[in-house]
Amino acid sequence: MAKTGILGGTFNPPHLGHVHAAKAAADALGLDRVFLIPANIPPHKAEPAGATPLQRLEMTKLAAKADKRFSVLDLELRREGKSYSVDTIRELSALYPYDEFWFIVGTDMFLTLHQWFLAEEFLKKTGIAVVPRDAQGLEPIWAQKRMLEETFGARIFVVDVPPLEISSTEVRVGQKRAQVTPEVAEYIRKNGLYGRISP
Ligand code: ATP
Repeated sequence: MAKTGILGGTFNPPHLGHVHAAKAAADALGLDRVFLIPANIPPHKAEPAGATPLQRLEMTKLAAKADKRFSVLDLELRREGKSYSVDTIRELSALYPYDEFWFIVGTDMFLTLHQWFLAEEFLKKTGIAVVPRDAQGLEPIWAQKRMLEETFGARIFVVDVPPLEISSTEVRVGQKRAQVTPEVAEYIRKNGLYGRISP
């Protein structure tokens, strides 16, 4: 039986904020491994300037080199249509029936969790590790934690780390090399993604 973390995302591109969140959750909860899982984006929702699904997968594999506990699964990219986390946790529970799962989310995703598709089933099958994303304070996180515990019997762990304020949007728009791992920066440069990237 392993303690397994799951970090789902669009990873367009994966950045140091993702690495920080996954590491901090793994350290705090003593996770044996963390699966990074790029989400499928239905073609009509894809950004014209964004990376292809294969490029997002390849960049996520490069970012996963940042920690021995990380590996990448392509199960959402292989599924048709929009990715639902409940489907992912169903698949992983079937593959690893004895694992204890911790789904890792940043503040933004955590605050909408009650609206996720089949939230009740999802929260029965996995604990949630929430990593603060901005310096706005923890009060909204504690309020959401209480609500999810009372409504769904959810297991929520708040990871006590200072936020690392980086987003994929900032990397795409600001094109800052320093916000991604060196391997991802090199990949972006070689493939001419997101326009020109600066040091
Ligand atoms: P975008 O800017 O394109 O919306 P993003 O930076 O939010 O992208 P995603 O791939 O959508 O990146 O995020 C995947 C998961 O990682 C989400 O749960 C998100 O909250 C979390 N996450 C992203 N960046 C951080 C960060 N800097 N700190 C903590 N969690 C983060």
